[in-house]
Amino acid sequence: MGIAQNIVEVRSEIPSGVELVAVSKFHPASAVMEAYDAGQRCFGESRVQELLQKVDVLPSDIRWHFIGHLQTNKVKMLVGKTSLIESVDSERLLKLIDSESAKAGVVTNVLLQVHVAQEETKFGFYPEELLEYFRERRFETLTSTHICGIMGMASNTDDEDRIREDFHRISEIFHQVADDSALGLRGFDKLSMGMSGDWQIAVDEGANIVRIGTRIFGARQY
Ligand SMILES: *Cc1c(COP(=O)(O)O)cnc(C)c1O
Repeated sequence: MGIAQNIVEVRSEIPSGVELVAVSKFHPASAVMEAYDAGQRCFGESRVQELLQKVDVLPSDIRWHFIGHLQTNKVKMLVGKTSLIESVDSERLLKLIDSESAKAGVVTNVLLQVHVAQEETKFGFYPEELLEYFRERRFETLTSTHICGIMGMASNTDDEDRIREDFHRISEIFHQVADDSALGLRGFDKLSMGMSGDWQIAVDEGANIVRIGTRIFGARQY
C-alpha cells in the first residue's frame, strides 16, 4: 500500500484535535512529498543533518518537528528551522537552545522530554527533575524559548498494561504542570506521546500529538 493511502487511513483513525507528526526519518524527500501531496504538512526528523537537507528541497509550508536526541554542537544549525523541538532532554540543552535562539533573533518552540521508560538508553528529564524545574520557576530565565508542553515515550515492550502505565505517568506529569495556574505558563498545552505501535493507548491517556513513522512510510533502512 502506498504512502498517500496510509496517510489518509491514519488521519481517519486519529481523533480530531490530535496532531499527526509523520515521522520521515531515514526516508527520502520523495517519500515526504508523497505524504505532502496527500495533505500532510507536519513531519518529524531525528537527525539534524537529515532535517536540514530535507528543509532545503521540500516545500516551505512544511512544519518540521525535531524528535531525536539533539547534540549541543548542532543546536546552532537547527535553531530557526523547526516549528517544534520535541526532544529537549536536559536543562543544559534548553539553555543552549535559548541562547542560540536569542542570538538568531527567533523564538524556538520546544517540548521537554520526560523519561519514564524502563530502558536506560532513553533520554529525558526524570519526572522529579522536571517538576522541580517548574516548581523553582527556572523557566523564567528563558528569553527566546517557549516551552509548549511535554513529550514522552513508553517502555519498549509488548505489555500493554506497562505501556498504558507509562503514558498515564507522563500525562500526570504534564497535568501537574499545565494545571498549576500559579505557574502562570501560557501555551503549555501540548502532550506528545505515541508511535505506530502504541498511539491508540497514548491518545486514550490524553496525547494531543502523535508521532507515526513506520505505519505511514514502512520499515526504515538504517
Ligand atoms: C522514530 C520515532 C518515532 C516513530 O516511530 P514508529 O514506530 O516508526 O512510528 C516516534 N517518536 C520518536 C521519538 C522516534 O524517534
